[in-house]
Order: sequence, then structure tokens, then C-alpha cells
Amino acid sequence: MSAPSAPAEPDVPEPLAALVERSRRIGADPRLVLHGGGNTSAKGTLTDHLGREQQVLWVKGSGSDMGTSVARDYPALRLAELTALADVEEMTDEEMVAFVARALVDPTSPRPSIETLLHAFVPRAHIDHVHADSICALTNHAEGRRVVAEVLGDGYAYVDWVMPGFDLAKVVGRLAHHEGVVLANHGLFCWSDDSDDCYRRTVDAVAKADQHIAATGTSTRGARRVGDLDAEHHERMLVNLRGALSARRHKVLLVDDRLRDIADRPDVEVVVEAGVSSADHMLRIKPWSAVVADPTEPEAVRAAVAAYVDRYTAYFERHRDEVPPGHDMHDPTPTVVLVPGLGAVVAGPDRATARVAADVADATHHVAATVADSFGTPVPLSEDAIFRFDYWPLELYKLTLRPPPEPLAGRVVAITGAASGIGREVAKRLAAAGASVVLADVDGAGLVATGAEIDEAGGPSPAILVGDQSDPDVVAATVSTAVRTFGGLDGIVANAGIAVTGRLDEITLDEWDRALRINLTSAFLLTRAALPVLEEQGLGGSLVYIASKNAFGPGAGFGAYSVSKAGMVQLMRIAALEGGPHGIRANAVNPDAVFQGSRLWDGGLREERAEAHGIEPEALEDFYKDRNLLRRSVTADDVADTVVHLFGDASSRTTGAVVPVDGGVASAFPR
Ligand code: ZN
Repeated sequence: MSAPSAPAEPDVPEPLAALVERSRRIGADPRLVLHGGGNTSAKGTLTDHLGREQQVLWVKGSGSDMGTSVARDYPALRLAELTALADVEEMTDEEMVAFVARALVDPTSPRPSIETLLHAFVPRAHIDHVHADSICALTNHAEGRRVVAEVLGDGYAYVDWVMPGFDLAKVVGRLAHHEGVVLANHGLFCWSDDSDDCYRRTVDAVAKADQHIAATGTSTRGARRVGDLDAEHHERMLVNLRGALSARRHKVLLVDDRLRDIADRPDVEVVVEAGVSSADHMLRIKPWSAVVADPTEPEAVRAAVAAYVDRYTAYFERHRDEVPPGHDMHDPTPTVVLVPGLGAVVAGPDRATARVAADVADATHHVAATVADSFGTPVPLSEDAIFRFDYWPLELYKLTLRPPPEPLAGRVVAITGAASGIGREVAKRLAAAGASVVLADVDGAGLVATGAEIDEAGGPSPAILVGDQSDPDVVAATVSTAVRTFGGLDGIVANAGIAVTGRLDEITLDEWDRALRINLTSAFLLTRAALPVLEEQGLGGSLVYIASKNAFGPGAGFGAYSVSKAGMVQLMRIAALEGGPHGIRANAVNPDAVFQGSRLWDGGLREERAEAHGIEPEALEDFYKDRNLLRRSVTADDVADTVVHLFGDASSRTTGAVVPVDGGVASAFPR
């Protein structure tokens, strides 16, 4: 496998340059490490800020991804200050971390790996540590020690599970005369005084493990033993699962069929009970995954989550007094749920995060299946060891450094008319607040452009649906897209609309019908399609209707439009009445005269409204601005801010309301 080459960096000492290059090769191979797992180091000489020559250890910074790493990701530490600790009897994690921090050559470096001392205690110039799947498959069963000796020979030492930190560093430091060390339920350490040789030893050991497994077991990867879950049950299952998984915090769900063979196994429970293959994985996917016995039964889907929550809560209670002060139970719902006939369903605040967890679950459960098929029943870590890792103070501390989740993280909203104008700004603002959005419009190119703006801003990647929202099939597909892409739906923004002008004595029936169909009937259809999903999911929801100042303050010559928007306000009120018992809120936003990015004014509307007001077309924006009480023009951003508010907890007691965003138009005050 070829790794992307590291960008050229000036003044990088040779051992560090070799370390970066080797680490990028390791990081590019998912059989060796996944998403920031593992660590590597090099030792050498560095000239410090005072011009002194220092013997240093460069070691990977905590959490950085080897595959894309650069020299800056490998902080330098004064080696003598680390090796001085080899004679110390014991040390707490906190003491060790404080000591290691003091040995940094540059105090502004990234936090060095928790396994820094281990790298210091082994007196070799280059060290690799990987969480390779095939190594974990050799170890995670009763005969691990014997199998490792058989496959890798006597050169490799074998260490039963020891929590990473000072104790593990001392244990492995004493084994430095071996070729490397295999750690049960964890991974592999290899070392050499030559960087390329170090890499070669790592991949050789992993290749030997792979060959042994291929020779002893029969790989079932990709096998399907159960029929596909049909479309209707697929969506109902997701909606119920999302409802159960989002009890504490909203989540989106990602369906991943790489674990279909595991989910379909008759002994799927045995595989899941093995827990994670390398302890590190539980930080991404919790100690265990859940299994849905019968995905065609909503009760069974919810029961699987409830049983997991009970189990996790009981496990937490058994160890509660070991939790550091100031920390409480993690979210007790599973991150990964295996579903026969489908694969894995993975929960997260957005699809990108769920995708990382899915990669880890794919590795971890396939290791357990390999163990079961090649060596017998997998042996998991003890519950005490799991809890110590699950609530490891150093990891809990890292959690406190993370920024708080975005206010709408894990929420799913479908927005119609999202290709331009208000719809585009609403979509961007909801995504910026963390929501996963479905963008719908007849204008596919416009949707792609909206999606690109969301991606560029770093928001959750949206789903796109092209079609006419006055067509019931397109509306059904919009809701389906939300469920299949994100696991469910938390609300809609009914925004698709057109401007139809003409006095009542001149407008044609076709024009009238078209205005009502696109502006009003589409909103009804979307409401009708969304309500059953929101009700079945059981998380409440928010329906937002982009009406118009015209609903309360109509204009002559603008009848069909004004009637459609007044109808929309009444539709909103009925939705509020009917949705209320299910916690579903419905509100309307009445903007006035939004020009920013809007296509509403194209096709003659600007000229007609200007004529109606007796002004030149180019004076229309200023005319509207000067007409309102605040003398301010109204932008799509202003509307979007109000829509975001209507999806947030700050509006949780507001339903059946009309929020004007019009600068204050007295003629549109309700009466
Ligand atoms: Zn490790």
C-alpha cells in the first residue's frame, strides 16, 4: 500500500524525518491502525533553543493520526529525564503525565502519547506500536500465548493485559531484549535501530499472523445468511432505533453493511460478548455492541436498546465508587447495533463521526469472529479492566477539553426550496448549528451548490433530493431520504414556493392552482408525510413553515400568493393542534421582502410590485426597507436565525405561533 508522502519540512532532524515517513506508511494501512490509534517513536539528537545538543525521544502526540502526520505531531522530550524514571517503583497516571510534560523540549508541543515512557524505556532508536487486527485475533482467547509463540516464534514476548501507563512501560522496558512484544487485547510493539527495519518487522509480524489465520480458519467476511430486511421494515426499524438511542441526546444513524456477515451469524451474541478487540476501541464504540433479535418488530428494536441501557447502568453502578469526582455515567445507549439482514447501525452526532465508529466496529467484531472461527470462544477483558479503561481519568480529562457539542448536533431536518434564497441560508445555518439536513428542490444544481457551501463550512454533510415537492411521491422520497441517510427526522422547513402575480379578475385558473399547489399543497404533503415518522420515533419535533408578511398584510395584484401563504399559516395551526400531544411543535415565520439570493423576484415580480407601488424596479428594495418600522432591510440570514431558534430547546414551549421577520410592518399586525 502506498502512503501519501509527507510534505517537505525544513530543518527536521534525520531520525524525525524517518519517523514521520514511516508513521505515514503505517497510518495509511487500516490493518495496522485506525483513526489515531497506535503510536511510534524515534530517538536522536536535537539542538535546542540555546544551541545545546540534547538526546531526545520524538513520540507521537496523543490522538493525532499517523496517516496524515507531520513533524510537529511528534513532540521531542529530553530522554534522560524520562529514563530516570525507570528505577521508580510506582507512579500514578497524573504524576506520570506531569513528569512527562516537564521533559518536553518545547512546552507548546502537542500532548505526548500516554505510552511515552514505554518508548523511552526501550533503548532502541525506532519503535512502532500498532493495534493490528490479526495480532489481536492471535491473542484474544485462552490459547493466546501458545498461538503467538507458534506464529511469531520465541523472539516475541507475550504480555497479558496490563493497563497502558507507568506499569505497562516498566513491564515492556524489561522485555527490550526481545524482538518485540505482543500485548493481549491490545496490540504489538516492534523496534529496531533502523527505521525501515522497524517498519519491516511490524508488517512481517502482522503478515505472519494473517497467514496463520488464513490457514486455520474460514473467513466468512461478506457472507449473508439472512434475507435482506425489506424496505418498509428497514425504515421503521431505523425510526424506532433512533427514538430509543436518542433518549439522552439526539443522534443520527449510519447503516454500514460491512458487518452484515457478523449480524447474520447464528452466534452473533458470542461475537458481541467478546467486546472490543483492542481496548482503545471502546473509546469509540463503548465496551459492547447491541444486537436486535427481530428487526421487523418495533418492540424488539426498542427492547434491545432498553436491555443494553439496563446492563450498562448496572455495570456502572457496580463500579460507581471508582469514578473520579466530577464525572458521571457516559450515555448508556449503545453506539453500535447489529441488525440481521442489514448490518451495523452506528449512532453519532453526525455521519462522519458515526463512520469512524463504524470503521472501528468493523475491525473489532471481525477480530472476534476470526477468533471464534479459528481458535474457539473469544476471551474478553475482565469487567474491572473494562471499567478502568472506560472511565480512565486521562481519557475523561480529554473529554473535558473537547468543545461542547453544537446545539443541534444529531438533529435531522428536511428543507424544501433549499437551492436558493431563504431555503439555502436556512440549510446553512441549521448545519452550522450541527443539524444534519436533507436538501430538497427542483433545482439539482442549486442543491449541489448549497451542499458544497455546507461541506466547505465543515457542517455535517447533507443529503440531497431533487424533485417537485407538490408531487406526493417526491415528498415521500424526501422523508425516506432523511430516514435512510440519518435514521429519522426531527422536523421540516416548508419553504418551497413561487410568486404568482395578477389581479383576481385576470389570473387564470391554472396560475391559481399552480400557486396553491407549489406553495401550500406541498407544505401539506410534507406535513402529512413527516407526522407519522415523528410520532413513531417518539422524540417530538419541530415543523417550520416559511409563510409571508402577506399572510396578514396582503397586496392587491398578489392574490394567489397571499392566499397560499395565509393557508400555510392555518395549516401550521392545525399541525400544532394535531402534533401537540406528541410533542411536535409547529410554527410559521413571516418574512417580508427578502432579496438576498432569492429567485422569487425573477420573472417579472420585481417589475410588477414596483409598478403596484408606483416606483422604479431598482428602487424596490429601498422602498420595502423604508416601509417597515425599523427601516431595515430583511435578509435571508435574519429568517434563518429565527428558524434555528424554532428548532432549538430555547423555543421548546412555543407552538402555533407566527414569528414576523419583516422589520415591523404595521399593516400586517394580526387583527
Ligand atoms: Zn496501544
